[in-house]
Amino acid sequence: MTGLPYTRRDLLRGAVLLGVGTAAGGGFSLALAAPALAVTAPAIASCATWGARNPSSALTVLGTNPNKIVIHHTDTANSTDYSQAHAFSLSRAIQNYHMDSNGWSDTGQHFTVSRGGYVTEGRHNSLSRLQAGSGMVVGAHCPGQNDQGIGIENEGNYNATTPPAALYDRLVQLCAYICDRYGIAATQIFGHRDFVATDCPGDVLYARLPQLRTDVAAALGGGGGFSVVVDNATTARFAASANWSSSATSTQRYGSNYRYAAPQATSDAATFTAAIPAEGSYRVEVWHPASSAYNSATPHVVYAKSGTQTVTVDQRTGGGAWRSLGTFTFAVGDRTVLAVSRWSGATGYVVADAVRITRV
Ligand SMILES: [Zn+2]
Repeated sequence: MTGLPYTRRDLLRGAVLLGVGTAAGGGFSLALAAPALAVTAPAIASCATWGARNPSSALTVLGTNPNKIVIHHTDTANSTDYSQAHAFSLSRAIQNYHMDSNGWSDTGQHFTVSRGGYVTEGRHNSLSRLQAGSGMVVGAHCPGQNDQGIGIENEGNYNATTPPAALYDRLVQLCAYICDRYGIAATQIFGHRDFVATDCPGDVLYARLPQLRTDVAAALGGGGGFSVVVDNATTARFAASANWSSSATSTQRYGSNYRYAAPQATSDAATFTAAIPAEGSYRVEVWHPASSAYNSATPHVVYAKSGTQTVTVDQRTGGGAWRSLGTFTFAVGDRTVLAVSRWSGATGYVVADAVRITRV
């Protein structure tokens, strides 16, 4: 590992990266407390395990939790050495580069994932804080986010290359574990380029971030999270008056049928009920058949913790698929989560078919 092929432009901006970034980039906080989800922790080799040097000066450990994850690539060779020994060697090389060439106190990022799927601790204290689910060490991986986001370096260059499955799968697991421990929503996973003018983490890996968020959300759900579909035919979870007719005509329907009604300025909504397991953030999606005879502005009323929020849906198009209304904070309890209203100023039938609620 002589002559490390670090060409990464952002890495060379050492002085800039050293800043903590006091104000920039912060701004939002999550009401979601660290949930007690049974996400399987990946094996993470500590600094001591891979033979890290001691930091050259004191590191700053904050009592506040991170609110996001920032994804990077190392912009090093796409090695075909998938061994643990290689992962450890890479970690030592990165630390040497960050300390000796950039003049930093320690490794910049919090964690590193090798192409073989081995996870190592980056900056000292990253692992202990993560395991505690409390606090974070200030990193040096993304200006403005070093005291906000957990930085993960993925070995390789993904400008034009797909990450190996071993790396990607471990990245999903690592992100899910971080989200679980810190109570970070899977939606709060970003690429380095979202904050800084850089091509990191490469076009290919960056393009996979929406999939990564989805996969991390699924991993959280699979570990005891929550996703439920309520169909209009679901017993005791759907209610609508007799003014809502039933139809099975459209092949775009969810399940056996759907309900529809003429728009009218009246309180006669179709409602969906779900048992929300814990207060937190949930993605709300609806499924409906589409038709040119349907309503272009069907009011969908989401019963968020902060109050009802109305999202209008054009039901003339986009049928036969889940359509996201957004992410909302729900209070715990068995409650109405969504109402489809007839109170639309537009013409055409309003349709109520199914809703999916997924914890994120
Ligand atoms: Zn980066």
